[in-house]
Amino acid sequence: MSLQGKTVLVTGGSRGIGRAVCVRLAGMGAYIYCNYVSNPAAAEETLELVRAAGGDGEAVAFDVADVEQVQAAIKQIGTDRGTLDVLVNNAGITRDGLVARMKESDWDAVLDTNLKGAFFCAKAASRLMMKQRWGRIINITSVIGFAGNAGQVNYAAAKAGMVGVTKSMAREFASRNITVNGVAPGYIVTDMTSELSEDIQDKIKGEIPLSRLGSPEDVAGAVAYLAGNDGSYVTGQVLHVNGGMYM
Ligand code: NDP
Repeated sequence: MSLQGKTVLVTGGSRGIGRAVCVRLAGMGAYIYCNYVSNPAAAEETLELVRAAGGDGEAVAFDVADVEQVQAAIKQIGTDRGTLDVLVNNAGITRDGLVARMKESDWDAVLDTNLKGAFFCAKAASRLMMKQRWGRIINITSVIGFAGNAGQVNYAAAKAGMVGVTKSMAREFASRNITVNGVAPGYIVTDMTSELSEDIQDKIKGEIPLSRLGSPEDVAGAVAYLAGNDGSYVTGQVLHVNGGMYM
């Protein structure tokens, strides 16, 4: 129970990978703030699973791309709990399209949510973490940020950007005992990937040495390692959780 007494914020905790992270860290003893933007019922389902895992927590609605909402929510967490120990920047969206057809609004929406949102949350959270000289920031990037993908130039830019953010913040915050790391999932079965046809899923499996898509729990295990005591000497790294599809 290495997160006993710690307070955790998971952005986009209502579904998919974020939900699995909430449940896993709750099982390690943390108090969970499950962020969502549009889906309170899903956030409530996550909290039921958190309680079933023996933990506790609450839902917190804000748009990670809105700096005022982010600042207000994280300030409130500081007031209510006295601190914030672990931030998992997981909220993310896709707006796919080939370069020739991609609208500026698709570029902006993905960069604003996936990259700027992570920056806003880390900036606000680090103020609380610096005071207590302890913190963990974990950024959920993607294999696409390393390998690229046709039709995902906006998403790849945001996810590659998160890697630079991770390394820079790791250097900046290390003297305050705040570690900053990334987790880069491959293809994980969630709402985000549910629209892929069976044909495409089979093609993807053919490119994965372990021959299966990943589960949200596979990713949550990597987050748990980085958030817990075992990860305390690891910073500025990206842990790839992709069945070997990118090495
Ligand atoms: P889902 O689409 O299943 O869930 C997305 C989550 O993000 C939801 O909880 C959603 O909240 C939340 N969210 C979306 N926009 C915002 C916003 N502006 N502010 C706050 N919360 C927001 O995604 P996944 O679980 O598949 O992905 C989670 C992360 O992992 C993403 O960053 C994604 O890029 C990354 N990833 C996913 C992979 C995959 O194969 N699935 C592979 C590699 C990386 P709500 O429920 O309210 O809509």
